[in-house]
Amino acid sequence: MISKNSEFEIDITAMGSEGEGIGHTEDGMTVFVVGAIPGDRVVAHVTKVKKTYAYAIVAKVLTPSSFRIEPKCPVAGKCGGCTLQHMAYPEQLRLKEEKVRDCIERIGGIKNPPMEPIVGAENLYHYRNKAQFPVGTDRNGNLVIGFYRKHSHDVVGNTDCCIQAPVNRPVMETVLEFMKEHRVSAYNEETGKGLVRHVFTRVGFATKEVMVCLVINGDELKGAEKLAKELAEVIESEGLKLTSLCLNINKKNTNVIMGDKVICVYGDPWIEDKIGDVTYRISPLSFYQVNPEQTLKLYELALEYAGLTGSEAVWDLYCGIGTISLFLARSAKEVYGVEIVPEAIEDAKENARINGIDNAFFKAGAAEDLAPTLPRPDVIVVDPPRKGCDEKLLDTILKNAPKRVVYVSCDPATLARDLKILVSGGYKLTRVRPVDQFLHSGGHIETVCALSRI
Ligand code: SAH
Repeated sequence: MISKNSEFEIDITAMGSEGEGIGHTEDGMTVFVVGAIPGDRVVAHVTKVKKTYAYAIVAKVLTPSSFRIEPKCPVAGKCGGCTLQHMAYPEQLRLKEEKVRDCIERIGGIKNPPMEPIVGAENLYHYRNKAQFPVGTDRNGNLVIGFYRKHSHDVVGNTDCCIQAPVNRPVMETVLEFMKEHRVSAYNEETGKGLVRHVFTRVGFATKEVMVCLVINGDELKGAEKLAKELAEVIESEGLKLTSLCLNINKKNTNVIMGDKVICVYGDPWIEDKIGDVTYRISPLSFYQVNPEQTLKLYELALEYAGLTGSEAVWDLYCGIGTISLFLARSAKEVYGVEIVPEAIEDAKENARINGIDNAFFKAGAAEDLAPTLPRPDVIVVDPPRKGCDEKLLDTILKNAPKRVVYVSCDPATLARDLKILVSGGYKLTRVRPVDQFLHSGGHIETVCALSRI
């Protein structure tokens, strides 16, 4: 019988939704083993027991999977970030592709989906353009910037993350020195006291612009101009340019990282970046894909699957800062983008202007509420968050009966659930292609699908 803190040997046969290993005990219990990968035989240490399943961590690897490798990052085992750094990259890709196929078959009820091979990345490290480092104090009372220890909110000091842009290291060290010198406190989640909660950065890989944003539990940061000067120097020595230093105000006792208010203390309250030949302005509160190399491939696929000839009216729902809308606009008659974050819609309008695109129109609001008010579409593109599309929206899509639907998804399970509804409403799934955006992480898998009206 499995009990908390017991240990036993188990073979890992599958990968779970967050990249953890899955195995089964002799009496049929499913065990989710963090740190294990398919093909491993491990000693599992049980952390939680439920009726039919249990959670565990790897106590010892007895026989490693042939795909197990030494992770590049020395703290990969402790950090709650990467869950697959100890798996060879081609195997990460194979398992992600399999996961998408499995969800579409099992949850979507679509046999033999028309899968195309997953699109892998060339650059396996330092691929992320966005970082959110928590700030805290360690057991000895020292200020630290780093990462949350796995399954906890203890901040472990580490500024050298191998999936982030290298410039983050000197940026974090500069912020840490500044905080020590000016006796700026770190936020403490338990007491609700202390000032700096997170350091958020965005790097325009194409433009070399850098935004640094300190999330604070207060209204001001004394000496912010001096910090801007120090950051500008250190960022310049890395061959990049600080174009924005912002404060984000978050005084709530919450796990949500960003608050609603942004104060710009240096430069502009945004940075610009380019995907392909489209320039994008990005504010701190706006969503922007984190892996620019793979985003280009993703948007090119969305464009290809949309099959535009220049005469179509297109809806781009969940449009963020208008990224996909503007990518499609040059090949369409007109594009209507809808997004719930008003700041992102401001960015989207500005982005249309910067790129000289006059056939893209944007509205702020929930896609499920605004879609029924838009002009009739020939093609609909959706790119919802992990929870997938609202049922009301799927209903509106079916009522409008566009020629094609392009579904860009970051969660295969909700994608499959929504595909089932579209397929039973008169669409045929014609193309499916996962694009690996989140290398070394098992939790998110991006997929592009095309559906045609039968
Ligand atoms: N297509 C964009 C953004 C995709 S992320 C890109 O590739 O950059 C999903 C977006 O959906 C986020 O910007 C989020 O703010 C937005 N969103 C979440 N719920 C929404 C809703 N109900 N209606 C419209 N947009 C929503």
